[in-house]
Amino acid sequence: MSNTPSQPRHSHVLIVGAGQAGSEAAVVLRQAGHEGLITLLGNETHPPYRRPPLSKDYLAGKSQQQNLFVKPVEAYAKLGIDFQPSRHVVEIDRTHKQVNLADGERLSYDKLILATGGRPRRLELADSEWPNVHYIRTLDDIDGLRADFAPGNRMVIIGAGYIGLETAAVAIQHGLDVTVLETANRVLARVAAVELSAFYERIHTSRGVKLHTDTQVLGLDGDQRVRQVLTNKGSIPVDVLVIGIGLIPNAELALVAGLDVDGAVVTDELAQTSDPDILAIGDCASHPNEFYGRRLRLESVQNAVEQARTAASTVLGQIKSYNPVPWFWSDQYELQLQMVGLSQGHDQTVIRGSMTDNNFAVFYLRGTQIIAVDAVNRPQDFLLAKRLVAARTSAKPENLADVAFPLKSLFAPITTDTLE
Ligand code: FAD
Repeated sequence: MSNTPSQPRHSHVLIVGAGQAGSEAAVVLRQAGHEGLITLLGNETHPPYRRPPLSKDYLAGKSQQQNLFVKPVEAYAKLGIDFQPSRHVVEIDRTHKQVNLADGERLSYDKLILATGGRPRRLELADSEWPNVHYIRTLDDIDGLRADFAPGNRMVIIGAGYIGLETAAVAIQHGLDVTVLETANRVLARVAAVELSAFYERIHTSRGVKLHTDTQVLGLDGDQRVRQVLTNKGSIPVDVLVIGIGLIPNAELALVAGLDVDGAVVTDELAQTSDPDILAIGDCASHPNEFYGRRLRLESVQNAVEQARTAASTVLGQIKSYNPVPWFWSDQYELQLQMVGLSQGHDQTVIRGSMTDNNFAVFYLRGTQIIAVDAVNRPQDFLLAKRLVAARTSAKPENLADVAFPLKSLFAPITTDTLE
């Protein structure tokens, strides 16, 4: 798989999926000197846009649609990028190096970049015809939620991951009556440590969100609309139901084309799939992460953007291996959470700052090594934490816990004294 790429500066690069990753790949390719055609096909009607505000400022009505666009739509033509919205690719024909579109057209490529993202995992129990059942992935999803997003309405959110909790924060501040249901015994169970889960449970509860963990949804009941959510703990009346139970990578095009797929499109460190003329980036792709010594599929803006840059370099014949230390953020109420690293495998957590003042960082240690940090309203600590995690820095827990101790000093050469 790790073939050194050839140097097709004049080739036709066809990108399927006009989201954060696809758009970045197109723009960077052109800016880095690609002289051939660049076609960017997206099956949505909008130009590429940023998804993070969808569950934050856009849902809250604080941001206009055009503020979400990665670039004004005219910018693509100016860069010589042929951006085509409402174009759905249904098949890859590797033999002829073509893709088939839903409208029957075929387009040729020299290099194909798959940037197809993912789609929300559906709740089997939900009737897709019920108009008050909503998922949160696209601009149209949020626009479709507006009519139900009225003060006083009873919103039930299934799933206490980031998207569910961000939606809960916006909804309760907008005057809805909000209930969050979670199967696990705590919120953010898949991504955060116990301390952080407990913190967010306290915050949401104190703002009036009704939070039910250890709760299984057994069924939904309704007529024209869903009216009741039936759970193992009883039934809950609902005017608007939001489902946030995860993402399924859009890897079917690759699978049917015979590329390696492990749930996501399998790539090497250069973003190449098992066919070196086809690359994959963003939410739809998994990559071998040298830092963690295993394959990762990430769902973040950082991943979409950085992997897109690697793919652009690969197409241009340059080697720029992709090996990120993941970082992510989430905004809920006035709290800015910034996370770096993966905390799985930690054997100790250290809190720096004050959880009661909503200003702290959780350091995850394996032995003495800092493997991940979650910072709430501590952007300076987060900036330093990114470097500390990337450098596999060791530290004494009591130093990390002491806000007077300068984290910067950990970049100094380590002596036995610092570690004792
Ligand atoms: P997408 O942005 O999903 O783009 C893929 C595009 O390809 C879509 O437009 C899709 O319709 C299109 N497509 C799929 N199949 C085809 C086809 N066959 N033919 C043509 N087009 C196709 N990340 C953060 O880092 N921080 C956050 O705070 C954060 N908040 C988020 C909040 C929400 C509500 C959501 C939904 C995501 C959030 N994310 C956040 C995640 C981040 O937005 C994604 O990781 C990122 O958008 C992935 O980019 P992508 O280009 O891989 O996929």
